[in-house]
Amino acid sequence: MAVKRKPLIAGNWKMNGLTKDARALAGGLAKRMAKSKSPAFELLICPPAPLLDFCVNAVKGSGIKVGAQDCHTAEAGAHTGDVSASLLRDMGCGYVIVGHSERRSNHGETDKLVRAKAEAALTAGLKVIVCIGETLKQRNAGLTLNVNRQQLRASLPAGATASNTVIAYEPVWAIGTGKVATPNQAQEVHSAIRKSLKRKMGASEGDKTRVLYGGSMNPSNAAELLHLPDVDGGLIGGASLSVTDFWTIADAA
Ligand code: PEP
Repeated sequence: MAVKRKPLIAGNWKMNGLTKDARALAGGLAKRMAKSKSPAFELLICPPAPLLDFCVNAVKGSGIKVGAQDCHTAEAGAHTGDVSASLLRDMGCGYVIVGHSERRSNHGETDKLVRAKAEAALTAGLKVIVCIGETLKQRNAGLTLNVNRQQLRASLPAGATASNTVIAYEPVWAIGTGKVATPNQAQEVHSAIRKSLKRKMGASEGDKTRVLYGGSMNPSNAAELLHLPDVDGGLIGGASLSVTDFWTIADAA
């Protein structure tokens, strides 16, 4: 019998939004969530770190979860400007994204570092969304599956289970570009990720682990992507900055 995985619809606000925007976005989503009886999806917003506390309070009681976009590997110490996973947990976050391609490219984050961050997050009691994905050059060179398998192998935290870890497949060429993976392209990679997860975590955990698609998902293309057999939700950047667009995507799940 096929395993049921509750779709996770996660909004990555990136470095966008002031307090007034967070009020409108988080507040607007909380209102929609309150009206929807028992949604078939889990909704998560990942605002910039300084807005986390505000958002945790704005969505309190709505069922919407709040997550961070990054964390440090250490629990505390001399790391100016960084944020620990234990502080995120203490503030009321449920999730943290690690290894987003913008962190990998802008900050030179390696698989090893991503894995260490993910392990720090699990230790702190957070769930992790581990991002992987190939560049256009790698896709054009026929390396897509190898690159994703390798990133997954090296970034997956020790102790990963279906309930504490989510994988986000985000082709780098599709992030913020308006170019979206075709359903065939997405399903091919998601199915390869699922096979690798089963090998690493055991068949049952691998089957239950959610694998999100990310990369220019919007209200027009969401349904097609979200209904693919191995796509269990989305990590959404641009379209998560509009209550209507983000909610329409979630509804499509
Ligand atoms: C992202 O930031 O993870 C992302 C997928 O962005 P966008 O939806 O804007 O492509």
